[in-house]
Amino acid sequence: MRASSVTLVVQKYGGTSVADLDRIRNVAARIKRHVTAGEKVAVVVSAMAGTTNQLVGWVHGLDAAGYDTAEYDQVVASGEQVTIGLLAIALQTIGVPARSFLGWQAGIRTDAAYSKARIVEIDPRPVLECLDSGKVAVVAGFQGIGPEGRVTTLGRGGSDTSAVALAAAIKAERCDIFTDVDGVYTTDPRIVARARKLERITYEEMLEMASVGAKVLETRSVALAMRHHVRVQVLSSFEDKPGTLVVDEDEVVESQIVSGIAYSRNEARITVLRVKDRPGVAAAIFGPLAEANINVDMIVQSVSRDGVYANQTFTVSKADLPRALAVLEKAKDEIGYESILADSDVVKISVIGVGMRSHAGIAHKMFATLAAKGINIQAISTSEIKVSVLIAEEYTELALRALHTAYGLDKD
Ligand code: ADP
Ligand code: ASP
Ligand code: MG
Repeated sequence: MRASSVTLVVQKYGGTSVADLDRIRNVAARIKRHVTAGEKVAVVVSAMAGTTNQLVGWVHGLDAAGYDTAEYDQVVASGEQVTIGLLAIALQTIGVPARSFLGWQAGIRTDAAYSKARIVEIDPRPVLECLDSGKVAVVAGFQGIGPEGRVTTLGRGGSDTSAVALAAAIKAERCDIFTDVDGVYTTDPRIVARARKLERITYEEMLEMASVGAKVLETRSVALAMRHHVRVQVLSSFEDKPGTLVVDEDEVVESQIVSGIAYSRNEARITVLRVKDRPGVAAAIFGPLAEANINVDMIVQSVSRDGVYANQTFTVSKADLPRALAVLEKAKDEIGYESILADSDVVKISVIGVGMRSHAGIAHKMFATLAAKGINIQAISTSEIKVSVLIAEEYTELALRALHTAYGLDKD
């Protein structure tokens, strides 16, 4: 047990919040206010906005499909190395003792799934010792060290997960996620101006929203927070006002049938044309993809009129599309298909709400609303508290706004 009455907090600042030196100074000033108020602060930061995209682009520029993911991690982890050092210096210049930590220096151990590693364990000692010595610990998000002693990264948006995991490991009182919006909204406020800010959202709804694309919190971070009862708050790094608290279901007073709408542009559709309609075909298609560590999301099988052939349509992440196509090409003989279509100009729109468990007609309203706008649905998937559809990307804004209004989510 730690014999300390000082409040321990973890703060996480995303890429736009550390996008240039002025913003880094702004973050440092904010941290200073908490330190002055007597809190011990461990900070997790992302790379400067745009940096990770550029690093990923460089790797893809050399090799789009078959690159060594361990080397990819070596490259993309570098973005956070810059911001931790800069933030530590910015803190020191305003009289706040601080030191920076790369993932491995902060004891963040992951599995060996390079480019999408999972945190296995965090040794809390390095960060706690730093905090106990009166310094702010500035930790690189998004990265850790794998069992082979090599640098790993956690997947895009992974700094949120680093922050929540660190908060759990050092038993922090709360984990504040500072970003470029002042909370979690009913849908992306940058696209739907009438989106409403939520004071509270349940872990479960936030988890579902995140998993279908609301990138304000990364999915795994929410799952971790839920499991370890970490108090997570999403708030603005630019303004001083209360954000959105992620809470247990019993802490939410009034719950809506639909609590939010999310979209993901990170989808690509693949259609495998004319495969034999017989047992084992789906396994022949999805087996090699799974072996290549490619996640498949929505799946639709349509059977042709003769009943002999079927088409398999499914989605993978845009990043995985080149690799998925390469894998399917290689397995062409085993699968036995005629040809493959791919389309990355698609978007997945999802409506989420725990109220769906007890209310019928949510999916119908979604289909009818899209139909009224003349938007064609290419694939559908559902879960207990979510309905998702795949549509052409050009209709993203139109669909989001229409659905937001249809479900009564517009702010007054
Ligand atoms: P950071 O760089 O701080 O991690 P992100 O870009 O990952 O920030 O996440 C914040 C962004 O998430 C916002 O700028 C907003 O466009 C987007 N977003 C998507 N859905 C929502 C939502 N429901 N509520 C708030 N923001 C959302
Ligand atoms: N810099 C990483 C990314 O852009 C991690 C993060 O920002 O959370 O995905
Ligand atoms: Mg993020």
